[in-house]
Amino acid sequence: MNEKKETFFRVNPEQYDSLRLEAQAVSPEEQSKFDEVTRMVCEAFVKTFGGFLTQEQRDYFFNTSVLTVEDGYLKRMEQHWEATDTKINPMEILNGVYYKSYKNQLVAKGAKNKGGSGESVSAEESCGQQFWSGRIPAAVPFKKDGKIISVDSKYLVPVREFEQMVDTLTDDEAFASIYNFVATNNWAQIALHEKIHTVLDPNLPLPISECAADGYQKIIFANSHWQGVPTYFGRSAEIYWRELLKEFNGDLSLLAFGNLEEPKKSEIFGQLASRFTPKQIAKIFPDTTWKTKKMKSKSKKK
Ligand SMILES: [Zn+2]
Repeated sequence: MNEKKETFFRVNPEQYDSLRLEAQAVSPEEQSKFDEVTRMVCEAFVKTFGGFLTQEQRDYFFNTSVLTVEDGYLKRMEQHWEATDTKINPMEILNGVYYKSYKNQLVAKGAKNKGGSGESVSAEESCGQQFWSGRIPAAVPFKKDGKIISVDSKYLVPVREFEQMVDTLTDDEAFASIYNFVATNNWAQIALHEKIHTVLDPNLPLPISECAADGYQKIIFANSHWQGVPTYFGRSAEIYWRELLKEFNGDLSLLAFGNLEEPKKSEIFGQLASRFTPKQIAKIFPDTTWKTKKMKSKSKKK
């Protein structure tokens, strides 16, 4: 019998729980509010794209939340995965280049302006600028003056509905609620992006994976008339993914979520690989630098 291939990232529940206890940046009561927002965006996603997922993937999508973590903890997680993740997959290679990770130049620029190290900016200056995709979805919540701003699912509404809510409040309450509105929509967006990564085929090259996660998330937000917040990827990844979806129809989504069978899979992947040239990747992600590794040889290992 064939070895069962892993089509999506899966966290062992005990490992997840222990990480959650160790890393959670907010109280359990607050975390449940974050989880409720995460659940809402997950439902919207599965309603639209759930048909491209297996039942197992749909279950997993709902059963894992997104960890709220502090910046430093995220770095540790990143280093851990970087150190342990040495496998190179054939599908990771685009034009002989293997994409290891990426960094957004806007983050570096912001830090430089502030006289920082160029490594990161404080979260209050930038909405959820750091997160960890795949494996264990985690994100740094939106902060103001170093304090995490609460989220509430009642704020995950179209902007017109929010304006109507604000009309019933005093000026002070209205002002405060704007932060909750931004924090909620910011979290909703990051949580969905990261959750999508957990069900994407982990063998996809990073630029394709990012284009897909960003594209699906923004499609869901547009369909739901949710506000979202500007992201580092701008709109070009979303626009490009929409174009590709039109061209390849359901096959693209099946490939993205690891559920397209051979030989169709290799055929579509080959076409995608020829589209995602370094020049095209730079165009889709204008402010992103990719950490890459050139393959010595694409042929067999010695
Ligand atoms: Zn991503």
